[in-house]
Amino acid sequence: MTDRDYDVIVIGGGNAALCAALTAREAGASVLLLESAPREWRGGNSQHTRNLRCMHDAPQDVLTEAYPEEEYWQDLLKVTGGLTNEALARLAIRASSTCREWMRRHGVHFQPSLSGTLQLSRTNAFFLGGGKALLNAYYRSAEELGVHIRYESPVDRLELSDGRFVAAYVGAERIAARACVVASGGFESNREWMREAWGQVNGEWPADNFLIRGTRFNMGVLLKFLIGAGADAVADPTQSHCVAIDARAPLYDGGICTRVDSVSLGIVVNKHALRFYDEGEDFWPKRYAIWGRLVAQQPGQIAYSVIDAKAIGRFMPPVFPGEKAATLPELARILGLDAAALVGTVNAYNAACRPGTFDHAVLDDCATSGLTPPKTHWARAIDTAPFYAYPLRPGITFTYLGVKVNEQAAVHFAGRASTNLFAAGEIMAGNVLGKGYTAGVGMTIGTAFGRIAGAQAAAAAIQGEMHAAA
Ligand SMILES: Cc1cc2nc3c(=O)[nH]c(=O)nc-3n(C[C@H](O)[C@H](O)[C@H](O)COP(=O)(O)OP(=O)(O)OC[C@H]3O[C@@H](n4cnc5c(N)ncnc54)[C@H](O)[C@@H]3O)c2cc1C
Repeated sequence: MTDRDYDVIVIGGGNAALCAALTAREAGASVLLLESAPREWRGGNSQHTRNLRCMHDAPQDVLTEAYPEEEYWQDLLKVTGGLTNEALARLAIRASSTCREWMRRHGVHFQPSLSGTLQLSRTNAFFLGGGKALLNAYYRSAEELGVHIRYESPVDRLELSDGRFVAAYVGAERIAARACVVASGGFESNREWMREAWGQVNGEWPADNFLIRGTRFNMGVLLKFLIGAGADAVADPTQSHCVAIDARAPLYDGGICTRVDSVSLGIVVNKHALRFYDEGEDFWPKRYAIWGRLVAQQPGQIAYSVIDAKAIGRFMPPVFPGEKAATLPELARILGLDAAALVGTVNAYNAACRPGTFDHAVLDDCATSGLTPPKTHWARAIDTAPFYAYPLRPGITFTYLGVKVNEQAAVHFAGRASTNLFAAGEIMAGNVLGKGYTAGVGMTIGTAFGRIAGAQAAAAAIQGEMHAAA
């Protein structure tokens, strides 16, 4: 087969791309998938995932109780503060109730939530072996079905004609096809673009201190190209899923094990050893995704989660052990903080903790009084040696700036939907997620719109062929 014979080109190699490629192939289209990463790094951010948020009206295999459409929608509405497209959001939510059967057919296995994630057993279906196993299953199935896969094939630009896809370029190589799905992720790995988006604040470039939790290959090349070529954009370039992660994590691909979950059990201080936000505002799964941005707003984009011996065993330990010391001044010395300032902050906090019944499983009555900022739950004195600290940096999961699509996943140019260019996954997630996040919705969006885009691209290609033959 020559390149010119392909019905559909899929650009990307993560969950959204594979869902699109498999669906287009199932619909009878010939498919070429172009992944910029080498084979051993294939799979984008999707390889780091653990689960998918699913709507269901009654208990289903690995999911307990019910999680109806309305509740899912209200959760999304709340976290996005209304920055979401209801029609597209509901489409993804509904698709999440039926997609698992299709995923199983392509070799994905699910498992019940394990300890530490039990609070998600009602809403999120976990992949057995995580996102890596899911991707391996999808790639295996795609190869068996005859999808042609090319690694180390970064697409730099597209040839478009009046909003229609004509060809993709990998360097000087031109690859034509009848339809195209762009599923090449966000732009979080592009440090220059992140720098430009965040700008300079108080003489600092905050983005210089960000770590990227996932792949290094999401450079946003096609996102930038499409916006430059007149595609309508959605969401703000500084909006992203941004978590506080261990400052010792690698620049890319630290993944889930670098997340620091001790925040609500102690206090968090900045480089001046001062607290800056209520660490006990709400349950950690509802708050973990705001802490990246909070740390990004601190001087030097660094902070420290400080706990004492009482907290050990109550949170999932990250991959790097905490810094440990017998006294607070010694801990300050290890962290490079002013010892008197840290002791002062802890003493003020300890003095403000009111007696209560500590229970990390509920919004308990252990709160501070007369302290700014307050700690409204799980406030217990930090007084039991040894003391521990985890250094924190903003960890970008994925960016939200994307291209605007409709219910057919068609890319819009000045309000007009393309007839053969579609988008899925992070590159269009901003249509549903203008800001905020609820765990597992990234894979819901990628799976739903990947399958829609694949089906639409196959239909556009096959219909186009029929027109040409008539
Ligand atoms: C550590 C971590 C944990 C996460 N956990 C979860 C979770 O449990 N549940 C959940 O729902 N979400 C989770 N997410 C978010 C989730 O990964 C994304 O929402 C989802 O994977 C997006 O899928 P995608 O296919 O759009 O992007 P990706 O999986 O990132 O794939 C993008 C692909 O495009 C390729 N590419 C980029 N540019 C080009 C180009 N120019 N040419 C060719 N190919 C290109 C990349 O190499 C990559 O293969 C997590 C993310 C991270 C980083």
